[in-house]
Amino acid sequence: MISTQHTAHSAQISGNGHGTNGHATNGHEPPHYGLLREKIAVLKQERNAVILAHNYQEGAIQDVADCVGDSLNLAKYARTTDADTIVFCGVHFMAETAAMLNPAKTVLIPDLGAGCALADMVIAEQVRQWKAAHPDGVVLCYINTSAAVKAECDYCCTSSNGVRVIESIPEDKEILFIPDYYLGSYLKAKTKRAIHLWKGYCPAHAVIIPEKIDALREQCPEAEFLMHPECGCLTKQMDLADQILSTEGMVTYVRSSPAKTFIIATENGILHRMRKDNPEKTFLPASEHASCHYMQRNTLDKLFWSLVRLQHRVTVDPAIAKRALIPIERMMALT
Ligand code: SF4
Repeated sequence: MISTQHTAHSAQISGNGHGTNGHATNGHEPPHYGLLREKIAVLKQERNAVILAHNYQEGAIQDVADCVGDSLNLAKYARTTDADTIVFCGVHFMAETAAMLNPAKTVLIPDLGAGCALADMVIAEQVRQWKAAHPDGVVLCYINTSAAVKAECDYCCTSSNGVRVIESIPEDKEILFIPDYYLGSYLKAKTKRAIHLWKGYCPAHAVIIPEKIDALREQCPEAEFLMHPECGCLTKQMDLADQILSTEGMVTYVRSSPAKTFIIATENGILHRMRKDNPEKTFLPASEHASCHYMQRNTLDKLFWSLVRLQHRVTVDPAIAKRALIPIERMMALT
């Protein structure tokens, strides 16, 4: 039973759940966040809930999460948790994946508007048409796709396991890759496979431009340059990057690298975790504008309200889930 004290105090916290959002809170935490953290800790126990936070979430959300990670790590955690409720602080397709992998749980997302521009660049009907034009091909989807799109696909991958998934596909098969053109280009170059590319892109990564990276590297020649394969500048910079890594790959890499300064080309929410884990190192964003407006729809205030009201529940039609789980399970079996 949820304590009425939460609702009584909640009016002092925020009337509508629209708190200060995003990475702008770095170093300037709103004064009510201390109280929110205490309330969230109590609510979590009362609800037997876990909080999962993607690496791109605002720092305050990462700090109260039971698990912070990339899509794959969060999906693995969601699949095995004993908690009754999963509050997924990430975007909608991630919450859908959690709901499909652990359908007995209540999966919540703090803001239903936390979608993904990249995932929205392909719909199920377009996949059916593309497959019809390539009847011998198999469809490999990036995890950044809706459940309805995954239901049309044969394989699924993340940026950390794309090469491994492609290597598991019979060599005589041509591959239709959706939706990210840049990640697809990277995988095509790495695997030398026949891959057709959908022309989707992530707006948060597209703002990372080569000129800014060139200038930063000139200013800090000692810095290591880490790039996410979703970056729009990838084709020009691919050979120049010291490492091309998934978000989780970056977090792991900077811990063990002897370098003291890093230029990070991905969504800037990840800088919070890197700085927290490695206070003696310096992390420079490749662009101050690499910020995902969808990820930032989730705030600490909305996370609080999500636990109070058990909102917003994310479910997937069982008929869609049954088909969408096929490519997801193929990926999970490899990782
Ligand atoms: S950063 Fe890009 S790919 Fe990731 S959720 Fe935001 S829009 Fe989608």
